[in-house]
Amino acid sequence: MLDAKTIAAKLEEAGVQATAQRIAIYQYIVCEADHPTAEEIKDWADQNFPKMSLATVYNTLNILVAAGLLKDYRFPNMSKVIYDSNVVHHHHFLDDETGQLIDIDPDVVEVTSKLKKEFHISQIQILFRGTRQTVRK
Ligand SMILES: [Zn+2]
Repeated sequence: MLDAKTIAAKLEEAGVQATAQRIAIYQYIVCEADHPTAEEIKDWADQNFPKMSLATVYNTLNILVAAGLLKDYRFPNMSKVIYDSNVVHHHHFLDDETGQLIDIDPDVVEVTSKLKKEFHISQIQILFRGTRQTVRK
């Protein structure tokens, strides 16, 4: 768990003024939440910061995304935007049973394309869907 001071330093480093609300929201997403939606973040805020408005939550998320501290994803078949504190390029696996979104290292995925030359690909985003078996050790 990163402390508030470390979180504040990360915000400042990214050029974001480290207000108490921004620190709290970013700390929640980095340390506790797992690919939360804005609604989930608002629910958490309601319990911990009853005075924080939905507008503040959205403004903070937009600021953090613009600063490159969070990534926002809109996946097909999912009506909501999810926020990810892992800003390094990666894919996702959606567990259809639990709804959990799991980060997938691009190194374990191989993609070959037979697209025509006119398509200049800048990035490939893959959402795998299925179920995940519990791994026994
Ligand atoms: Zn992710």
